Amino acid sequence: MSRSIKLVDVAPTMARVLGVKTPPIDGRPIGGVEGWDCDRVALAIVDSLGYGLYTSLEPYLPNMRKMAREGLLLEAEAVATSTTPAIASILTGLLPQNHGISNTSQASESEIRSLLEWAGSEGVRSAVVMEEEGARTFQGFVEIALGVPRALSAPDFDRQILARSIEALEGDPRVLVAHFVGIDRAAHRGGGIEEIREAASAIDGLIGEMAAAISERAILMVCGDHPIHAGKLQGVFDSGSVALILWWRGLG
Ligand SMILES: [Zn+2]
Repeated sequence: MSRSIKLVDVAPTMARVLGVKTPPIDGRPIGGVEGWDCDRVALAIVDSLGYGLYTSLEPYLPNMRKMAREGLLLEAEAVATSTTPAIASILTGLLPQNHGISNTSQASESEIRSLLEWAGSEGVRSAVVMEEEGARTFQGFVEIALGVPRALSAPDFDRQILARSIEALEGDPRVLVAHFVGIDRAAHRGGGIEEIREAASAIDGLIGEMAAAISERAILMVCGDHPIHAGKLQGVFDSGSVALILWWRGLG
């Protein structure tokens, strides 16, 4: 692969899988998935999953490791250092200076359209599962927008994200976006490598369950939103890139 991959390439890649047109954006579809026999896509955003962090922890992450070996593991350039603008870039394919979204209230008010709206305007059923306030910004134009209370402990929060994702999949969406926070929460609490590894390992188990639950014609994508941006491990594994994994069951 000759060009460098950026997080803004995620939305156009998902749009290509869905067969949905994209407006003019900064990102471009990632090559290599056209031959996969898929018309659905699930995206698991794993908060703070830097590329170096992922490769360091890979021995403890059997599900993601299997996905990376059967599919693609890419080092994607992060485009923001905090969560809301990063996720906005992941979902709109626009760099932060072009989407202008830096907090959740701006996300609610923004006229900028995301992958979920591009999909919706072509009749593609979509689902979003994330923290309640974030999920609310999607209500009204995403068929299935399920929220999880922020007050839950990180392990409980992530288990609820998985449970509600499986609930969302029962509505048969062609695109699902879910956001897991355990690694980021551990970093913000000042956790060391053991706490981060434990959080990553728990999320890996949930992603394994998600992989088992999605349609046979769905690509599962896993990406970080930014490298660790708080606590004692900030800057230790990564400066500016995140892990991006693309996998389909038919590759195994
Ligand atoms: Zn984040």
